[in-house]
Amino acid sequence: ADTILSVRDLSTRFFTEEGQVNAVESVSFDVEDGEIFGIVGESGSGKSVTALSVIDLIESPGRVTQGEIWYRNADLAEEFRGSKPDAVDGDLVDIRRLPEGVRRSLRGPSFSMVFQDPMSSFNPSITVGEQIAEAVEVQRRARSNPRSTRSRTQGYGLASLIRDSLLPSKSYVDDESMDRAVELLDQVGIPDPEDRAEEYPHQFSGGMLQRAMIAQALAGEPDVLIADEPTTALDVTIQAQILNLLRDLQEQEGMSILMITHDLGVIARMCDRVGVMYAGEVVERGPLADIFENPVHPYTQGMLGSIPDVDDPSGRLEPISGNVPSLLDSEMPDACYFADRCPKAMTDCLTRIPEYELDGRHSVRCVLAEQEFDPSDAVDSVDG
Ligand code: SF4
Ligand code: MG
Repeated sequence: ADTILSVRDLSTRFFTEEGQVNAVESVSFDVEDGEIFGIVGESGSGKSVTALSVIDLIESPGRVTQGEIWYRNADLAEEFRGSKPDAVDGDLVDIRRLPEGVRRSLRGPSFSMVFQDPMSSFNPSITVGEQIAEAVEVQRRARSNPRSTRSRTQGYGLASLIRDSLLPSKSYVDDESMDRAVELLDQVGIPDPEDRAEEYPHQFSGGMLQRAMIAQALAGEPDVLIADEPTTALDVTIQAQILNLLRDLQEQEGMSILMITHDLGVIARMCDRVGVMYAGEVVERGPLADIFENPVHPYTQGMLGSIPDVDDPSGRLEPISGNVPSLLDSEMPDACYFADRCPKAMTDCLTRIPEYELDGRHSVRCVLAEQEFDPSDAVDSVDG
């Protein structure tokens, strides 16, 4: 499959009063057409910040400080080939090098996002149907005149982050958009969608509102749907239904999904490939079967230790003794970030560890990979 999104060496920092926080450190991964790529890690490991960095929603005092985000889009590549040659490689564009208005216009038709808490993602005073119709409308305008939306500040489907400050409290949508909204509600399995469209968010159950948020995220027909802990707030039965829905939609629409979760059960059930994050780094990355059956990084091994059955959807990350290191730059060790907690730590670990590629699809940031495999396979080097 072709790559729709290729994140290279991405770092995101927060410049706080306590100092510089290295929330995401040299993260690389690809998302292919029609696949579900999972990012799994404990809370605070940098997975949400990675997702927000991709979709350009990091806010001050945070900033993406390095890296490339290549996105396959032939139209954009054509448009910028002459004026921004560094931003174009074949059909790929490096989003970070595109003008801000263009980056913003990608939210919806290119990337859309589903969050953990649907209630805070909807405006309580506008009907659900209207809010989805509004997203449809913006998308329709974008299609009929791509340039007209380039300066828009609305990012539908990202409602919780921007709706409050940017959208009017009352929206005006036409019948055609409303019809499409009803269709979308139907598509995500909401019964009586015409009636439900007229209702307000508080009239929806958590699961139904999560479906509605997914409908809103689909309004732009995104290439990549980013789902950040999309089922964490829901009870187990509803979780399973929402995961099935996402999987069905992914197949129907042929889109890719970037699934962010702390839940290994969700990963096992949904994902084709997975990246394991620890302390802001992707420590291991590869096809699901490689990660679950042949984990090389001691963190991955430890995390999987508590899962007797990978098909058990209730599997959670095992608490590994010790603490996640501070992500304050001044306190980050000049060593493997996992060294404090690693049962296999040795003197070789007291240096920064590069990422080793084992067989072209499975990569590991650990000296064990170097010992086990040919060191000349190292795919990147670490600064400093
Ligand atoms: Fe453990 Fe060393 Fe590997 Fe880090 S590099 S995970 S400390 S063995
Ligand atoms: Mg998070």
